[in-house]
Amino acid sequence: MIKQVCPRCKQDYIHKVKIIPLSKFVFLCAECDALWEMEMPVTQKNYTDFGNYMKGYGYSGDWSLIEKYNSDNINSEEDYKSP
Ligand SMILES: [Zn+2]
Repeated sequence: MIKQVCPRCKQDYIHKVKIIPLSKFVFLCAECDALWEMEMPVTQKNYTDFGNYMKGYGYSGDWSLIEKYNSDNINSEEDYKSP
């Protein structure tokens, strides 16, 4: 997958993830929760907020509903270190 910086926050790459209860792949920014459907072009204008997107399907915006793919740089447990 080509790495693309999130056009919304420019803080992180967007990642291909699977929304487990929907069995659907989307692109998601872990930094700002911007979400794009796979068939959508990823631009600054057309993102959806992850929480709102999930709410639209009757779910809470819970990250445990997400299965991560291409997880080479989204392993936040390794990156995250308490000061
Ligand atoms: Zn972002």
